[in-house]
Amino acid sequence: MGRIHNFGAGPAALPLPVLQRAQAELLDFAGTGMSIMEMSHRSKTFEGVIQGAEANLRKILGISNDYTVLFLQGGASLQFAMLPLNLLGAGQTADIVHTGAWAEKAVKEAKTIGNVNVAWDGKAEKYMRMPEQSELKLTPGAAYLHVTSNETIGGVQFKNFPTSEAPVIVDMSSDIMCRQLDFSKFAGVYAGAQKNIGPSGLALVILRKDLAERVGEKVPAILKYKTHMPEPSLYHTPNTWGIYIVKLVTEWVESVGGLSKLQAINEEKAKTLYDTLDSSAFWKPCAHKSSRSIMNVTWRLPSEDLENKFAKEATAAGLDGLKGHRSVGGIRASIYNAVSLESVKALVGFMKEFEKKNG
Ligand code: PMP
Repeated sequence: MGRIHNFGAGPAALPLPVLQRAQAELLDFAGTGMSIMEMSHRSKTFEGVIQGAEANLRKILGISNDYTVLFLQGGASLQFAMLPLNLLGAGQTADIVHTGAWAEKAVKEAKTIGNVNVAWDGKAEKYMRMPEQSELKLTPGAAYLHVTSNETIGGVQFKNFPTSEAPVIVDMSSDIMCRQLDFSKFAGVYAGAQKNIGPSGLALVILRKDLAERVGEKVPAILKYKTHMPEPSLYHTPNTWGIYIVKLVTEWVESVGGLSKLQAINEEKAKTLYDTLDSSAFWKPCAHKSSRSIMNVTWRLPSEDLENKFAKEATAAGLDGLKGHRSVGGIRASIYNAVSLESVKALVGFMKEFEKKNG
């Protein structure tokens, strides 16, 4: 079939059964004689799709009715702005944990709207580790605490989430649905869909309903969470295709055994790769051991020339998307839910050969 091993950071690999099902249903969705992309977002048929996607997410992640579940546009980046616009009142402070490139964007956007306290900054350690709770400098009475669950570029991930008296909001773009978590600890979670839940052009927002009421009247309607809540995600035309794929992906998650099974597979994938990286000084894994991401694995080789050679030869061998982010270089393997253990084993096999020839 010519499908490669896809280690791209996002948009990223989707489960093959999802793509096959979407292909089979493309021209005639559920006997309607049209594609899901061609029908009204207010049709009964689409209502079943969006309600199904929401119900599956609630079940898989364990989200109670105290939270709204929204499918919005503007990616996770819009949430960097929408969140403070809604939750950061005049005179209040947002605590933000600065763990890398994505947290930095959250900090920058929030600063355009209100007061920000950087509760911890990983700069001194080149953002290669997540902080312990005791290292955080939290603001009494903060509007909220923002954390980035997994830094996609650096490859660091929280194992234990920070806590605060303020509501905890998590950017979970690159590791949502990769492991079992107690969602009741969070007041809000958001994620761009294009890694673990679907295609790009869609952001999932899960927010405690009471928090959405905080927003000031001056905020434009489209940017208020509460505008999108009464008829969830149907204030305007949503990304219907994306929501449909999210429904298929969540069905796939259930079919493979839910989050406990996926977590076990993800941990095995990550261990397979980190064990290889730890096996020889030729490989130089970037993240501190305590914070190694099970979704984005980052490492260096002895020289940039070798890194370029590695990425190029890997692509030629059918292992794609391994070049590190353009801002940092190096190598990055994104091993999201849809990337199989077989793909990781193929990568490890390639690495061993590469080391033999170049080490
Ligand atoms: N947060 C994280 C952790 C991300 O990885 C990304 C995208 N890679 C974003 C935010 C921004 O997402 P988007 O491109 O959907 O705006």
